[in-house]
Amino acid sequence: MIFDIMTLFPDLVATVLGESIIGRAQKSGVIEVATYNIRDYSEDKHHRVDDTPYGGGKGMLMMAPPIYRCYEAICQKREDTVRTKRVVFMSPAGQLLNQRKAEELSQYDNLIILCGHYEGVDRRILDEIVDEEISIGDYVLTGGEIPACILVDSVARLVEGVLSDPECHEKESISSGYLEYPQYTRPYDYHGVTVPDVLISGHHENIDRWRREKALELTLKNRPDIIENFGRREELEKK
Ligand code: SAM
Repeated sequence: MIFDIMTLFPDLVATVLGESIIGRAQKSGVIEVATYNIRDYSEDKHHRVDDTPYGGGKGMLMMAPPIYRCYEAICQKREDTVRTKRVVFMSPAGQLLNQRKAEELSQYDNLIILCGHYEGVDRRILDEIVDEEISIGDYVLTGGEIPACILVDSVARLVEGVLSDPECHEKESISSGYLEYPQYTRPYDYHGVTVPDVLISGHHENIDRWRREKALELTLKNRPDIIENFGRREELEKK
């Protein structure tokens, strides 16, 4: 899968996504992450990319033309290699990112992401090129770069070959419809707290049952909405 990211701060994005599992997946060629500095597509002699909003108001807006030229360059570059693509604008006014959305986006060959900055972006370019707007949460950040990294991480780890064991994400919080049950590793006794007996019993059926119970307990406590969203209302009502 190819991720193309349009931004004013390409180094920020490349640094974050160049590390750990996502960085290794790029090196091994399972995914490709390319960044584009929108400033390089400005035709202004000072490489200006922003201007004041019509109608007044605070702050600056990113202008449409440099973004459009950047987008065109990406489309041309990918013309022969991608069949399906989706263009996303990171925005606090977008739909909230969740695991289901990450799964949906992981089905595309190419995800093109636009990162806003300043007070945002001229509406016309969004209407012209963007398929959907995605928010990473109900708070406002200074730019779309960190949200873009979060989106890429959540989508890329669902791409075949990125995680060593695909079961990893199938059993995780949210993917399974529950939050993940508590996990323990060595030492057996940590600060006087020992690992639950059932986990060292070797009885796999009991271990599975214990994990399901704990996952349900935790989900009901912290995120009952997840159970409802996954159509498991009966389990909620049984409690
Ligand atoms: N004036 C805009 C508004 O009220 O919607 C906020 C602009 S924000 C300061 C600058 C940029 O950061 C946005 O264009 C967007 O790309 C990004 N951003 C900020 N918060 C975000 C969030 N919660 N999710 C996704 N992107 C966000």
